[in-house]
Amino acid sequence: MSAIQKSDPQIYEAIEREKRRQAEGIELIPSENYTSEAVMEACGSILTNKYSEGYPGKRYYGGQENIDHIETLAIERAKELFGAEHVNVQPYSGSPANTAIYFALLEFGDTVMGLKLEHGGHITHGLPIAFSGKAYNFVQYGVDIETGRINMEEVRKMAHEHKPKMIVAGFTAYPRDIDWKEFKAIADEVGAITMADISHTAGLIAGGVLESPVPYFDVVMSTTHKTLRGPRGAMIMCKEKFAKAIDRAVFPGLQGGPHEHAIAGKAIAFKEALQPSFKEYGAQVKKNAAYLAEKLMERDFKLISDGTDTHLLLADLTNKGVTGKQAQHVLDEVGITLNKNTIPGETRSPMDPSGIRFGTPAITTRGMKEPEMDRIADWMDRVISNIDDEALHAQIKEEVKEMCLKFPVPGIKV
Ligand SMILES: *Cc1c(COP(=O)(O)O)cnc(C)c1O
Repeated sequence: MSAIQKSDPQIYEAIEREKRRQAEGIELIPSENYTSEAVMEACGSILTNKYSEGYPGKRYYGGQENIDHIETLAIERAKELFGAEHVNVQPYSGSPANTAIYFALLEFGDTVMGLKLEHGGHITHGLPIAFSGKAYNFVQYGVDIETGRINMEEVRKMAHEHKPKMIVAGFTAYPRDIDWKEFKAIADEVGAITMADISHTAGLIAGGVLESPVPYFDVVMSTTHKTLRGPRGAMIMCKEKFAKAIDRAVFPGLQGGPHEHAIAGKAIAFKEALQPSFKEYGAQVKKNAAYLAEKLMERDFKLISDGTDTHLLLADLTNKGVTGKQAQHVLDEVGITLNKNTIPGETRSPMDPSGIRFGTPAITTRGMKEPEMDRIADWMDRVISNIDDEALHAQIKEEVKEMCLKFPVPGIKV
């Protein structure tokens, strides 16, 4: 980064400080990961200079021979990875990708079913103040407050009552596996289009440890930067019959020039995910999450749904006498990063809710395994049980840093 150092010391220093933060802390935000050096090189490459509106072989600007090759590789690898009929790798990120899907397959005002935000849905799944909630008539299902799981009979009842044009499944804060086949069966009963949003779990699906919706669902969206461990961005997979509508909605419907540096990064990430080592990664992410859940429950943490099938955990801290916001803040002080989160049946405000959300994708990329999960559970418990003990926090911060420095982050030399 010597060029940045010379031209812009302020940004250089900030990046250096962020490197240190990433290297010395435990990253438990379940939507984050560490991408490979190869992916980062692509994102920082000269590909950022090129305009390439259109699709491979059908562009609006000249000079596309290398870009077409790169984007075609990304598409072919994604198809192989997920067994998809058609793939669009141009969406800038998950939210615009979901917007493109709705724009492609719905009319404004159409009825759509999605999961409530406070039960684990995403803002693009019909939050009333978001574009999705304003442009479409979202009716929202929830999870069973007792079990923390989606009640498929309630989904069926709502589908028959509201006759949605589309049913959205796949979530941002839901720790359990999803019954794709049952969602598809319900959608077929009412003639709805099926849309799966696998942003959180795509890496576990590609790694073969969670079931894939791709064979059953009409459209599947994923971000590429979460468990899939690629660059920031997204992709849309769909059945051939929706291919034209999806492509047109992404460009020119919603976006202009695609970010080909990010698309090159996606191509590299898909190749990495096709390697046998990625299957091991997926399996270890899941094992680590299950083990962390077990170790926290031993310490009287109340986990929503009493555990996890995925990379993600959600805890209600009410019995610990702290709020989600307090826990996030005090854990940040010792170098453990996670986020406050609402829980099903939330009685507090989203800015200071009862729960926290965390997960294992990033720490597993660093090579952490069960013994480290044990230590993390212990630190979390001691910090949360002693939120005013600054001496303890200082001591744990040192222990966290010492452990972290044994597990390198790709692209960071310490
Ligand atoms: C992360 C996420 C998105 C949005 O991704 P951005 O890239 O942040 O816009 C959409 N849906 C779900 C379920 C997600 O978890």
